[in-house]
Amino acid sequence: MTVFKRITLLQVFKTIAFIITLVLLIFYESLPKRTMALHPELTKNVYESVDDTIDGNSEIIWVDKSQLSWICHLRAGTPYPYCGIYVMWSKPAAKQLDLSLYDGLEVELDYNGPATYLRVYLRNYYPAPDITDIVGKAKFNSFSTLATDFKRPTMIPFKDLRVADWWIDNNKIPPKEIKTDISKVIAIGIDIPYPNTLGRHEFKLKSIKATGYYFSKETLYFSIIIFWAAFIISEILIRQTRLLSMIKASDQQLKEFRTISELYREKAEHDQLTDILNREGLNRIVDDLYAKKSLNNYALLVLDLDFFKTINDDYGHVVGDNVLQEVSNIFKVCIRSYDIVARWGGEEFIILFHSISSANIEPFAEKIRKTIESTSFVTGKVQNITVSIGATKIARSELFENAFIRADKALYQAKETGRNKTIIEL
Ligand code: GH3
Ligand code: MG
Ligand code: MG
Repeated sequence: MTVFKRITLLQVFKTIAFIITLVLLIFYESLPKRTMALHPELTKNVYESVDDTIDGNSEIIWVDKSQLSWICHLRAGTPYPYCGIYVMWSKPAAKQLDLSLYDGLEVELDYNGPATYLRVYLRNYYPAPDITDIVGKAKFNSFSTLATDFKRPTMIPFKDLRVADWWIDNNKIPPKEIKTDISKVIAIGIDIPYPNTLGRHEFKLKSIKATGYYFSKETLYFSIIIFWAAFIISEILIRQTRLLSMIKASDQQLKEFRTISELYREKAEHDQLTDILNREGLNRIVDDLYAKKSLNNYALLVLDLDFFKTINDDYGHVVGDNVLQEVSNIFKVCIRSYDIVARWGGEEFIILFHSISSANIEPFAEKIRKTIESTSFVTGKVQNITVSIGATKIARSELFENAFIRADKALYQAKETGRNKTIIEL
């Protein structure tokens, strides 16, 4: 019952785990995400980045600085005119944001102007020898996308950011430090990338959010594989343990059945009254001996109590039974451990006497006959019980039945010639 219960629970758990796995795989994109709102929450310091500082003619006009709404007039004047803004969380770049936990920036802005592309850049702290030029020295990670995309929140994946070549050249960055870095972001900026179109560009920045999954797709796949592998292995182990205990239990049951059937066989092959072998028991042993070709190592004695009917008549059937029990006990005492005694039926017994030589038969049979003759039975109540014995030696390869006929014939002779005697027919 408990095993059944455990399996059911396991199956329920498996089904739930399977459903969760499917949901995670199918709806991964819709899972709740880690989010950090950067604008308008964190953009306290807004800066202009315009080429007028290098003698250009571009200009920013703020529509509403607090709402980050501005107009860039991009004009010819320098070889590379530029105009944009950037925001910082503190001044001068004391506060650095670790955005590496996120997958990208979600930016929404209204733009009106001739530019096809807009550029978003993240400046990451880079150790500058000159403390006053921390922003100028900060790593320039940027990504350009279609200006029209920004009308709705658009994702700028961090993996698509590229470090600007001019930043690498200007700062003589060693190759191993060229890769993008967003672990210490000090500023986020928006401008118009090259090749740019001169003219009026209107911006209104609505929101910037860093977003990311709590765990990556790779982590999800890896976790699912590990989970199911562990689950399948433990299920196999549980099944194996169950199977082993079932095998153990059935093994135990088999042993019990064997013991019981052995007991029944013992019972079926023994005489209830005298507790010695009955005819079935003797037949089985004889068959075994014959099969092993060792039946010829025995002499066969058929023993029949004399005038037993009169015992029953004189003392009653119960006393007759007691005499039969005591006679059996005498037989048991007289034989050796490797001889066999059985009740053939009524007051007739058989002894298989282990003897290679026929010369030993008579002394043995006579010892039994004399013991019976000299014993008083049922606590002295019954005396003068005698037994007639017909005996023979079982020949090599001879069937028991053949030897029996000979011994029975000898017994008949013993009865005919006065009883209480042994006759051996070889
Ligand atoms: P004989 O010397 O010719 O063998 O004479 P007998 O009386 O022994 O022979 P018979 O075959 O005429 O009688 C055997 C008797 O043994 C008959 C029966 O009353 C008795 N007998 C057989 N089995 C049992 C038994 O289990 N219990 C008792 N009490 N008597 C039995
Ligand atoms: Mg008899
Ligand atoms: Mg008889």
